[in-house]
Amino acid sequence: MEYAYDDQNIFAKILRGEIPNNTVFENDHALAFNDIAPQAPVHLLVIPKGAYVSLDHFARDASVDEQAGFFAAVAEVCKITGVDDGFRAIANTRTHGVQDVPHFHLHIIGGAQLGRMLPK
Ligand code: 5GP
Repeated sequence: MEYAYDDQNIFAKILRGEIPNNTVFENDHALAFNDIAPQAPVHLLVIPKGAYVSLDHFARDASVDEQAGFFAAVAEVCKITGVDDGFRAIANTRTHGVQDVPHFHLHIIGGAQLGRMLPK
């Protein structure tokens, strides 16, 4: 699998500071911000600062430090948003997964009872 990263995607522009965002948490390797079109009371995106197009790309090629930093940000986001009653983490990927933005992002969605994962 070849992963071709397009540095003109909207999250790359956010990381370069070309587009504003509502940052909730940031560390050396990851940025977490509110989704512009929230689908639940809590809806954030956690993204790595490195140029990874998808979860499988990140899992294969990111360094141990990048992966640790990313998941540390996920932990902080869960703490900050107080999703103690639960949440859903979604990584839409490529065509079948209906991924719109080709920079790996993990949706953290919660703050309310969510429906089933997929329609039956
Ligand atoms: P995907 O379908 O790629 O998993 O989801 C992309 C997400 O990015 C969508 O939920 C969409 O609302 C969000 N999004 C798209 N553009 C922007 C933006 O400029 N700022 C923020 N904060 N979120 C965005």
